[in-house]
Amino acid sequence: MKCEIISVGTELTTGQNLDTNSQWLSRALASIGMRVAFHTTVSDDLEDNVDVVRRAAARAGLVIMTGGLGPTLDDLTRDVLAKVANVELVFDEASFDMIKTMFARRNRPMPERNRVQAMFPASAKPIPNALGTAPGIWMEVGNAHVAALPGVPREMTAMFEEFVVPRLASLGVGGGVIVERRINTFGTGESHVEEMLKDLTARGRDPEVGITASNSVISLRIVAHAPDGETAQGKIEPVEQEIRSRLGELVFGTGDEGLHEVVCRLLAERRMTVATAESITAGQVAERLARVPGISEWLRGGVVAYTNEVKSELLGVSRSMLAEFGAVSGPVAEAMAMGARDRIGSDIAVSTTGLAGPGDGGEGKPVGTAFIGIAWAGGVTSHQVQWFGTRTGIQARVTLSALNELRLFLKSQLRSDRQIGVEK
Ligand code: AMP
Ligand code: MG
Repeated sequence: MKCEIISVGTELTTGQNLDTNSQWLSRALASIGMRVAFHTTVSDDLEDNVDVVRRAAARAGLVIMTGGLGPTLDDLTRDVLAKVANVELVFDEASFDMIKTMFARRNRPMPERNRVQAMFPASAKPIPNALGTAPGIWMEVGNAHVAALPGVPREMTAMFEEFVVPRLASLGVGGGVIVERRINTFGTGESHVEEMLKDLTARGRDPEVGITASNSVISLRIVAHAPDGETAQGKIEPVEQEIRSRLGELVFGTGDEGLHEVVCRLLAERRMTVATAESITAGQVAERLARVPGISEWLRGGVVAYTNEVKSELLGVSRSMLAEFGAVSGPVAEAMAMGARDRIGSDIAVSTTGLAGPGDGGEGKPVGTAFIGIAWAGGVTSHQVQWFGTRTGIQARVTLSALNELRLFLKSQLRSDRQIGVEK
């Protein structure tokens, strides 16, 4: 059965507020095996709402609406449902009593307008709201089940769980679960990842594999539909293995775990302390690491070395090297990392130097060029990256590149191909 979610509110269509209800509902529906095919957002306009609900009831078996159930004139959902179903609005005494109780409990007089919240399309069933004054509406429109819930997220989620889920179960609708597993990669583009997984991402496969990109992290979403969680996991497992074996080191983690959390976990596993020397990222690498609880055991400190003077004075980068190669160069990135490791006294150090733009700072290199240095007891290495975008976008991506270099180093401390043999 296809589901459609309709979010109602002019504050949503104007862009003033973000429609988070649809996201929550889609996930909640997936967890009970229901696939959402449409998200529709509509302003507080009667005709447009009627149009949208008619369409939804024609193309989906389950329609969940949120918003428009308040007592004010711009709250139209009950009128819309009555109009689409071609029935009158009728007064429901029990709901009215609950609304009155709600006001009494808050020691507030009930405004006359709230009486309208006890009006329901004939044929509808009220959905109790334990947290607010607006009851929801359950009814059939044509062949579709329709649930109208308040827009307030707290009320909406509680009513969905307490009323809609059991109701769907008793109707035998949906069933099973949709389980999603996200595998996150960093270090190459979306189209390259797709090329490596072409056959797996083809439409109509079971489980389905989709690709999404967010802030240069390319994620594979494996989605399995099965009678129960265990069976779904069983379907996901071999696909995950295949993706991991094809993408190798590009895969850094799963689910919500970020690169900084992976790095922290690896530091703890290797029992290694780290220091940072940051020019282009101005402390963002250290800031990211510091977000992870327990990092204080492994992150010793860092230097924001923005100017050449600070690179020389605090990190010991020689002025002749700065003059010869420029601040944005592999040798300077390496010297910065060695300086930080040495002066801060950590096992390893990471450095960043690059051009965030918009100007090229007289470096004669393209904006977005950056070098990441890694220093450890046995040597030092650097790696050039090239990013594009705005100043803050480039800084964010270089930060991720630095965390990724740390991850790769920690995963394989003896990557001889990347070592350039500089002994300290
Ligand atoms: P309503 O039920 O339309 O009176 O909405 C009440 C409040 O709920 C709004 O003022 C918003 O703050 C919030 N809200 C409504 N719709 C959504 C939505 N789709 N996502 C998140 N919040 C919402
Ligand atoms: Mg509204």
